Amino acid sequence: MKSNKANVKVMTPKADARMAPDAAISPATPIAPLVKQMLENLGEDIGRDGLLRTPERVERALRFLTSGYAMDVKQVVNGALFEVKYDEMVIMKDIEFFSMCEHHMLPFFGKVHVAYIPRDRVIGLSKLPRLVDVFARRLQIQERMTQQIAQTIQELIDPVGVGVICEARHFCMMMRGVEKQHSGAVTSAMLGAFRNRKETRDEFLALVRAPNHI
Ligand SMILES: [Zn+2]
Repeated sequence: MKSNKANVKVMTPKADARMAPDAAISPATPIAPLVKQMLENLGEDIGRDGLLRTPERVERALRFLTSGYAMDVKQVVNGALFEVKYDEMVIMKDIEFFSMCEHHMLPFFGKVHVAYIPRDRVIGLSKLPRLVDVFARRLQIQERMTQQIAQTIQELIDPVGVGVICEARHFCMMMRGVEKQHSGAVTSAMLGAFRNRKETRDEFLALVRAPNHI
């Protein structure tokens, strides 16, 4: 596999490619009453103005933030897999994500960088941020999310290799005083050529670190 840097495609995601919040209250398994109870147990006056509709708001927010469970990868990609002759690295940098740690249900957020070398198929570029959302919008740990994104791309298009790097900051560490402000964590998942070939991995890392010129 040749690797001519001049041919490498580096993309940054478009802001409008993400799904809008549309989570609704589920009458079958309501969460709002539990939130109300929680507020009471925390010693809040649930009758005061600011809290009146908080339980419903929290339910909507939680359902949206965990909506990835109900997303189907195939449906998200929706046939946007294309046959190509292109065999250079495809990179999409700086895909913003917001997730919640499963240990504290507090947010962690940051950027995901995705790269792969196609074998004979590519994924429509606008689908990559949506794939990230599928795994970010659920209770997560950063390591698993990174792995799931890589594994899913591997399964969808069987590329020569996939690399995923995730840089995130964790509110559960920042807010609880565990590690104060410098609580950035970096995780990576490297499959195929990205695992086996140092040059491929180095090229990916260099492209991730390079400033964006778009
Ligand atoms: Zn946590």
